[in-house]
Amino acid sequence: MATMPRLVLSALGATVLALASACGEPEPARPNIVLVSIDSLRPDHLGCYGYGRATSPRIDQLAAEGVRFESALSTSSWTLPAHAAMFTGLYDSTHGLSDNGLRLAPEHRTLAEELKSQGYHTAGFFGGPYLHPTFGLGDGFDVYRSCMTTVAANLSEEDLRRESRSPTGRSHDDITGPRTAEEVATWSASRPPDRPYFLFVHLWDVHYDFIPPAPYDRMFDPDYSGSIDGRNFMGRPEVHARMEKRDLDHVLALYDGEIRFTDDILGQILDGLRAKGMLDNTLVIVTADHGEEFFEHGSKGHQKTLFDEVVKVPLVMHWPGVLPAGRTVADQVRLVDILPSALAASGARKRPTTAGRDILPLARGETLAPTSALLELHADKREFRALRTRELKVIRYGRRPDGRELPNQAYALAGDPRELTPLQETSTERIGAAFGQLDTALESARALRNYLGARATSADIDPELERKLRETGYLMDSSEKR
Ligand SMILES: [Zn+2]
Repeated sequence: MATMPRLVLSALGATVLALASACGEPEPARPNIVLVSIDSLRPDHLGCYGYGRATSPRIDQLAAEGVRFESALSTSSWTLPAHAAMFTGLYDSTHGLSDNGLRLAPEHRTLAEELKSQGYHTAGFFGGPYLHPTFGLGDGFDVYRSCMTTVAANLSEEDLRRESRSPTGRSHDDITGPRTAEEVATWSASRPPDRPYFLFVHLWDVHYDFIPPAPYDRMFDPDYSGSIDGRNFMGRPEVHARMEKRDLDHVLALYDGEIRFTDDILGQILDGLRAKGMLDNTLVIVTADHGEEFFEHGSKGHQKTLFDEVVKVPLVMHWPGVLPAGRTVADQVRLVDILPSALAASGARKRPTTAGRDILPLARGETLAPTSALLELHADKREFRALRTRELKVIRYGRRPDGRELPNQAYALAGDPRELTPLQETSTERIGAAFGQLDTALESARALRNYLGARATSADIDPELERKLRETGYLMDSSEKR
């Protein structure tokens, strides 16, 4: 391996290892690894993170029997770059999947590729358009299946026929959880029994629109008699920043209904695996790609800002007998830490260069140095970037298309956790140092991209998928972006 630039090593705490010593002791049995990503799931809407409604009994149970990370950060506020970061352990400026129309460069090794190369059987199931293999996130999976009813993702003729017979509709209207549970059950009955497995499950329904099926549609707001529902959340003019609080509360109750619906689906999936003995010696990781905003800073949805409501994600790790039960970790961790942690759990001796680090020591109660999280977003023809430490977030907005530059912002998170009052004095030494750290992190992410010698290549987007992405508001020409 060529020598890494010291800058990258020091600034990102890059994991460039390993060749752990072989001491001749018998190898412990390698665990199965289950990674569940629940799209658009805010941690503060889960019981185990202090929410008042019973949205998440199964996730809460995993947290009670495992480890909950209080402060886990995505790399961005939308699906594609966040999942690329989860799968590669790289920041967006390194993996490059930071805008539409790109494909993960095959040189970037994904978690599935790494585990497959170690003899794991790898299977992935997804419910939303950006997990489609055309973007490269299916690389390394022995089995990789779409559970959408609207977009064909698997290439066998039989699957394409089945897709074409499915009711058509926009993916935001799609209800994919039950099908995802079915597909996982079908796979689990036929997976190779002699190898450990890596299972990735992407649960989509928490993503807007907020149309949970009965009884979840009335579960948290049964008495509502107004006219607002969760359909067409993004396009609906009545859903705006100054809407009646009672109506917005109803939208939130529908979002919560989707969470409970999805938590029950997760329970079904886990029960099915347990019944087949497939959860023995298994690390289960539950997280999300990003959160969701409900006008905390004036907007709805996600992919607009880098405030905590869209970049904080839940993270729970469950591995009975190895990780303690009921531990809570206050240290800030990141989606880029998932790949190094999963590979450490697998016992992999050789691990790729990443921006993340193994956080299993934190889960076990050990101490690691604090880390910062680099956050990036391409929106409105601008590139927003932020750096978050446990105490401080600094945001650089970049130049707008009309040449105007929005002022940099800084928030002291301890006293202002909702980021409502930007610090007036952004030229202090502490804040200046944080902006310097942001520059260094970005420079390091780019240096790592060059080091790895790969950039995202243009995705060869299937016309049908492109139509679907445009229809759902995901794929827009830059001028159309909101
Ligand atoms: Zn998403």
